[in-house]
Amino acid sequence: MLELARCVRDGKPLTGIESMWIKQGETLEKNGLRELISDLDVLPFPDFARNDNKFLVHFGRMIERPNIHSAYACRTYPIMTSRGCPFSSCDFCCNSVFKKRYEGKGTYLRRRSVDNVIQELRQAARECNVHTVRFWDDIFTFDEDWISEFCGRYQSEIGKPFICYAHPRYTKRKVLEKLAGCGLEEVNIGVQSGSERVSQEIMNRRQSNRDIVQFARFMKRKRILVCYDIITDNPYEEEDDHRKVIELLMQLPRPFRVNFFSLCWFPQTELTKRAIRDGFISPAEQEQYTAKAVNNFFMHPAYSRSRKDLFWNCIRGITVLRLRIPKGVIKWLMGSVFFRRRPDLLHSAVGTIVRLLETYKWQWRGRPVIRKMCCYFMRDQVVCVPIDYYGFVVIARGLWEFWVHQKVECNLFPLENGTGGLGFQVRVIKDWEQEDVDFLVSLSACDSFDSDGKGFSVWKICLPLKSPRTDWCFEVRYPELRCSRGNETYFGRLIHKGEQPCEGKMHFVGFQLSSGNFRFLMGQQLLPYRMEAKS
Ligand code: SF4
Repeated sequence: MLELARCVRDGKPLTGIESMWIKQGETLEKNGLRELISDLDVLPFPDFARNDNKFLVHFGRMIERPNIHSAYACRTYPIMTSRGCPFSSCDFCCNSVFKKRYEGKGTYLRRRSVDNVIQELRQAARECNVHTVRFWDDIFTFDEDWISEFCGRYQSEIGKPFICYAHPRYTKRKVLEKLAGCGLEEVNIGVQSGSERVSQEIMNRRQSNRDIVQFARFMKRKRILVCYDIITDNPYEEEDDHRKVIELLMQLPRPFRVNFFSLCWFPQTELTKRAIRDGFISPAEQEQYTAKAVNNFFMHPAYSRSRKDLFWNCIRGITVLRLRIPKGVIKWLMGSVFFRRRPDLLHSAVGTIVRLLETYKWQWRGRPVIRKMCCYFMRDQVVCVPIDYYGFVVIARGLWEFWVHQKVECNLFPLENGTGGLGFQVRVIKDWEQEDVDFLVSLSACDSFDSDGKGFSVWKICLPLKSPRTDWCFEVRYPELRCSRGNETYFGRLIHKGEQPCEGKMHFVGFQLSSGNFRFLMGQQLLPYRMEAKS
């Protein structure tokens, strides 16, 4: 990037820059990979300070003095002390691809000196409001000597609580004890699948459930919170594997945190190649052709594609609720033939209970029963699920979902189209044979978006849904609504204000725009997305 920036600054031709493919007219210059940087201490520290010389170009607007911070929490300072993973062998992980790609280009696993890391953290403490430090190293705990030196300085010179990743099998207890003594507050570990068959045979991971449980018990004794990363939507998980995941979750000592991620198909990983060979995904479902890793970073049950996935994702969600559900109830649910046939009802019932708990902020032993969760992850912002539902809305919604079986499931994702318009992507999953679907897209604006300064616009658009699952990109170019899939483009018809469209089967897709806070209201779902209001 520096070489590219220098070429631009000096007006030199953009050519011969290693690690870049450069398109000039019709020719494509494919430059090879550059050597890995062996001494990471030569790199400058990231600069998060809010100075006058910083600008952020965001949705076509220039924001001065942006508040750039960790994507997870504004008072958490993100830092990496190493690059690469000591294992780099898990079949779904990008490290397994990068390590092979960089063979012969230098040592893949590298680490900064302790002194360099401490210097950066001292700078951060001076310039930012740091409450917690988050070490994003793939495995922070891999080098005992480094950790000893780090612990010797961290507490006296930085002294902030911190979070890091560890490996449940290959992290020595004395390393964890040292870290616990100098501020370790939370440790993340990758479980990925609670089924040892899937973990070892499909994902090529070197750990057992026994390792995970022993690690968890040790951390519990040290009073350190453990956060488990678990991958969902894995087509290789069968009935027995799903049960094993639940059994593992029920064994883990509480309290804990769980991140459910939806399996992303990164190109060239062994798992992606295998899934294409086995017909589970098409090549077009790899991450380079979709934005699933951004838009469905955390698993959202409504994103499930099959009844089986929805059922098991719901059971997983129920099992990790802070409000502890009796094991007998979970086992009964696992065996329920009714909920296997109608997992949507299970999803709806649990969603209603969770929303009620959120709404009334019910507590258990002085702690909120439901933790406010990050549900959306987009570029530089994370937006939390709002708790602005009123009880009656929640109950009405739950009842509605019990009685009305939705035939079209839509998932909405914000989309930046680079043209300054408002864009979103809709993934439509339908379960009946009818070819076309009429959509109503509703935009209500508090800004001067509409011609008379306030208003409500409704477009009707008819889309041919030839396959059970279709992705459409919508772009609002008021008063036009454009919808495209590949080379096909359709235009929405603006329905005059006051006209109540009620012809045929209508499926409501809407979103609300209010100043500085953009909300998608889709079906019964409210997914907020912070965005600058446009006029
Ligand atoms: S999943 Fe974790 S342990 Fe496995 S290669 Fe990736 S970073 Fe390393």
